[in-house]
Amino acid sequence: MPEVREETPLTITETSTPNVILDVQQTSCCIVGGGPTGAVLALILARQGIHVTLLEAHKTFERDFRGDVVHGGGMELLDQLGLTERLLDQIPHSTAKAIQYIIDGQTIPFVEWSHLKGTQYPYMTIISQSRLIQFLTAEAKRYPNFQLRMGANVQQLIEEDGSIRGVRYRGQGGWHEVRSHLTVGADGRFSQVRKLAGMELIETAAPLDVFWFRLPRHASEPEGLFVRLGNKRFLVTYNTYDGNWQIGYYILKGQYREIQAAGIEALRQSIVEVVPEFGDRVQHLESWKQVSFLSIKVGRLDHWYRPGLLLIGDAAHVMLPMGGIGINYGIQDAVAAANILIEPLKHGKVELNHLARVQRQRQWQIQLIQNLQYFMQRQVSIKALQSGYTFKLPIYWGLPPWRDLIARLLAFGVLPPHVKAEYRL
Ligand SMILES: Cc1cc2nc3c(=O)[nH]c(=O)nc-3n(C[C@H](O)[C@H](O)[C@H](O)COP(=O)(O)OP(=O)(O)OC[C@H]3O[C@@H](n4cnc5c(N)ncnc54)[C@H](O)[C@@H]3O)c2cc1C
Repeated sequence: MPEVREETPLTITETSTPNVILDVQQTSCCIVGGGPTGAVLALILARQGIHVTLLEAHKTFERDFRGDVVHGGGMELLDQLGLTERLLDQIPHSTAKAIQYIIDGQTIPFVEWSHLKGTQYPYMTIISQSRLIQFLTAEAKRYPNFQLRMGANVQQLIEEDGSIRGVRYRGQGGWHEVRSHLTVGADGRFSQVRKLAGMELIETAAPLDVFWFRLPRHASEPEGLFVRLGNKRFLVTYNTYDGNWQIGYYILKGQYREIQAAGIEALRQSIVEVVPEFGDRVQHLESWKQVSFLSIKVGRLDHWYRPGLLLIGDAAHVMLPMGGIGINYGIQDAVAAANILIEPLKHGKVELNHLARVQRQRQWQIQLIQNLQYFMQRQVSIKALQSGYTFKLPIYWGLPPWRDLIARLLAFGVLPPHVKAEYRL
């Protein structure tokens, strides 16, 4: 089979306590995972003078398997942290104000964020996620009580008297230990912390997978997020910050090998069938090495915490890619957790009821949005992939109340948290 880049979970190589531990560090909060969720939480805690250590398994933040869309709700929170002006000044970005369907060449308007009231960011911001995280961690590094350890692959939890008291990670030269009042697992959809704590993700069947790649974009082409349907194909395209189209080519689960076996030329042709204007550039897709494969996984945890341990972000709830809301929900979890945990952390007294409050505040909203994503997937994505040219959008899809509801939910969720006034800059 030709080579496609596919995200694989990190593996645990050692289960017994290592003989040699090179150093032991004491901190208040140890956050595992330098994704958007972990980076935002670390920054807010660091600003409040809390000793926080952020552990990231990879040596850099550069990776294929990252989304790069931040919706209005996420931008509002970054703004409340006093970050957006400098962020947008320093990092190239683009915006998309609407989602439109293009079915057999006909354009059908859907979500219009530009109609949203009460926000400074009525659009999605498309920005390199790795640069966003570099920016957030650079901000946090201004505080001496913040530590970032890259190449720190957490493989063990330290458990004493029924509580999690920190982690052991494999890093430079061998094993290291971080002891903490609170450990936060923000280590993404394949979370090791979740596994090590024996917490099981309740997975729901996700009948789709996606190929993820880029093609050049002409400056004269319209901006926005376009869902392109036809001939049993389902493609999502949006303009990136560096002059390309980001393309999600959705397939039914199980079709992966068949499509790969048909070869890259067959993939190129099928793209042109749905997006004829890409005929002048599909040749840029020369090999499967330029294509990432994302096996879609959806699920959620029943319990987000144990004594001394909290899981947030993708580690607690893996969302469908529909709407690109994973980063927003991770940032919202981080803000909600910080609002609740800052005072207990300052006093070294994080109780179970604090952790339960984080879950209570966030879990129902996430379930609601996951259910909405399933509904939209059943109504459109799956039908479009199965029914080819006979596919029609449901009649209510174009009605303003439905469109406006989806616009608001994608941008903000149901009851978005706000950074508490005393924690703003
Ligand atoms: C291809 C793709 C496209 C996407 N597009 C979008 C989009 O456009 N918009 C959007 O909002 N969302 C998108 N998403 C989802 C989004 O990327 C996630 O929801 C979001 O990144 C979750 O953030 P997180 O911080 O919770 O987890 P992650 O971003 O997954 O970060 C977890 C971090 O933990 C680290 N880690 C894992 N295990 C360990 C360990 N044992 N020790 C130490 N560190 C560890 C990982 O290296 C990683 O850096 C996309 C996802 C994919 C895969």
